[in-house]
Amino acid sequence: MLLNVNQVLGAETTLTLRRSTQFTLKTCSNTAFPQRLPLTTRYIQGIASEIINANPEVFNGDLDPQKICVGPELTNSERAWAEADQRSLTIETGNILRTQNEAQLAYVIGHELAHIALRHTPLEGNPVPEPDHDLASSTIREKQLNLEKIINLQKGESQAEMDRLQDEDQRLLNQLEQIFARYFENDFSINWMETEADVTGAVYAMKAGFASIEIGWRQEELAVSARAAGLNPRTQNTGRGYDPHAPSPALSSVERVNQAREACHLQDPEIPLRGEQRYPMPCWQIWNLKTNLLNDSLYGSLFHSPKSRTASDMPSLAEVKQEITRALQNQAPVRK
Ligand SMILES: [Zn+2]
Repeated sequence: MLLNVNQVLGAETTLTLRRSTQFTLKTCSNTAFPQRLPLTTRYIQGIASEIINANPEVFNGDLDPQKICVGPELTNSERAWAEADQRSLTIETGNILRTQNEAQLAYVIGHELAHIALRHTPLEGNPVPEPDHDLASSTIREKQLNLEKIINLQKGESQAEMDRLQDEDQRLLNQLEQIFARYFENDFSINWMETEADVTGAVYAMKAGFASIEIGWRQEELAVSARAAGLNPRTQNTGRGYDPHAPSPALSSVERVNQAREACHLQDPEIPLRGEQRYPMPCWQIWNLKTNLLNDSLYGSLFHSPKSRTASDMPSLAEVKQEITRALQNQAPVRK
């Protein structure tokens, strides 16, 4: 019998908060981050520390708090990423400028910490159960090594070799899809990694006492914006007049939650389309994070009975945004 996402990521408390890895991890250093954003750095490191300290069962051993690096990158763009092989996470300052409160940033940071603790790419962590867990791990690992060869091969140096490596990448992807298909519903494999990071990261941040109303805040904004552009966010995430990078709609958290529920028709019994991209469709993510997972005892109790935050001495978000805005004005933003 195939598992559905509810069984894997929720209802039976099989919710995974940490995995081990066979990789030798690299050491990271906070001095690698730019030193010209002292308040911003202190701010995001402070939020990350609150989350890490609230999850001691996750962050120990090779995930000891001292071994994890957190810092900003000065740019208008809005990505955040984790490097699980060196236990490091980076938040672009455009992402911080978009947030309305610390809790929103905490869910971004929680997501990236989850990529690290779940040993996601470039490591081998995955949710496939026994007896195929090791096969999935080794396939992910092989695919990663092959990908590194593709990246290292100079363009045009050897087209035949490049073709061979590309074929090998496709073969390993197919193999992985087949393993996933043995255990999970057919749309699960494509975006399992981002889904896992969302779910596990939300648990980390809730345990640290960050307001659960902000879970999925960005997906809710996207659903509201997509509907405003005339799209149906249950099934469409691109279309004329819809720019996912446009400024956030000016809404309070409660207004955003309510409008997203309407835009996604979450009162309908039918589950929104999950989609076949790296990130699931926003309405599916909102449904998963704010309806589906409430059936899980751990997730549900944290969501409904919030913990309180440990007070920490941090600059205000307004001061941080001012520092970022000034720094962006004083130099050309880094564009990638
Ligand atoms: Zn991610």
